[in-house]
Amino acid sequence: MYKARAFAAASATAPLSPHTIERREPTAHDVRIEILYCGVCHSDLHLVRDEWHAAMPATYPLVPGHEIVGRVTAVGSAVKGFKPGDRVGVGCQVDSDGSCPDCRAGHEQLCANVVLTYNAPDKHTGGVTYGGYSESVVVDERFVLRIPENLDPAGAAPLLCAGITTYAPLRRRHVGPGTKVGIVGLGGLGHMGVKLAHAMGANVHVLTTSPSKRDDARRLGADAVIVTRDPEQMRQHAGSFDFILDTVSAAHDLSAYLNLLRHEGHLTLVGAPEKPFEIPAFALLAGQRTISGSVTGGMRETQEMLDFCGQHNITADIELIPMQRINEAYERLLKADVKYRFVIDMASLKG
Ligand code: NAP
Ligand code: ZN
Repeated sequence: MYKARAFAAASATAPLSPHTIERREPTAHDVRIEILYCGVCHSDLHLVRDEWHAAMPATYPLVPGHEIVGRVTAVGSAVKGFKPGDRVGVGCQVDSDGSCPDCRAGHEQLCANVVLTYNAPDKHTGGVTYGGYSESVVVDERFVLRIPENLDPAGAAPLLCAGITTYAPLRRRHVGPGTKVGIVGLGGLGHMGVKLAHAMGANVHVLTTSPSKRDDARRLGADAVIVTRDPEQMRQHAGSFDFILDTVSAAHDLSAYLNLLRHEGHLTLVGAPEKPFEIPAFALLAGQRTISGSVTGGMRETQEMLDFCGQHNITADIELIPMQRINEAYERLLKADVKYRFVIDMASLKG
């Protein structure tokens, strides 16, 4: 074991503060990574504040972070795919059983024994896993990804969660030329959804509560912007969307968005608000619409997404912050005031 500097929350009400954690020495299959950048996902905030208690209770101290980009500093004796100096990424998972039908199909995120990057039982230490708000991490090589060299490493960090979480459902629904796609919520996930759906050739509409984001939405690749608090704009688009991707982090009225779908249209939820939704039956029955959920993505598809972003030169629009400003960043996330992903510069931990 060796010590690593990190930032942790001591309880659901405590701010994040400096903390020292222990990382394992690399086993034969492990890669040790010096973390350069880590994106700030709204899931970090939900978990730090224990908002998902019923589904995923928080264990403290909690070190969040699952949008990791860094450099390999050491590899175990059996590691084939990576060597010191490689530029790599780690996303939302760090282990799985590797043998179940989901793992064999490349859907490690669905494995019953998946190990999340933080706040999950850690078989190596007997404690819990600690995430990327830290100077280093040790990960099984099966869960280490390659970051295309043409991408800015800080801007690439959010691809590891916001990127794959939006890419996977867009692909699953065969989004492309001729598809009218709505992206609800222009935050970290939403802005990646806009860039990716645009690159796939879809007709992209942003559905936002923030009229001030209109110009940015267009610059990011949206063909049109709908301010969802304006009933007239919502009425104009009723029954017209093929697919809607809902990335909203707080409670909201789903039926307003379901009514925008055409007959047999589909809405996928990736946002994970704390409280349950209320869905009127007729919002689904009337147009024979369907609603589904999606969680991150598997390793193969995550690498495919990274390579797609390399080919199309896609990274997140980021605000780079020192680790010490993380609590302020969380307050701004709660106000939908992020343009469009905070990324922590891990050099600030060493200062
Ligand atoms: P974020 O950057 O904070 O963006 C959320 C956006 O939602 C805001 O910018 C805002 O956009 C919109 N919004 C906020 N409050 C709203 C309200 N009351 N009504 C309508 N819209 C509202 O968050 P994020 O990091 O993108 O994460 C979004 C959600 O996805 C979180 O719940 C997160 O936990 C979840 N998530 C899920 C997965 C998964 O695998 N399924 C992975 C990562 C994250 P506008 O200003 O444009 O309205
Ligand atoms: Zn995330």
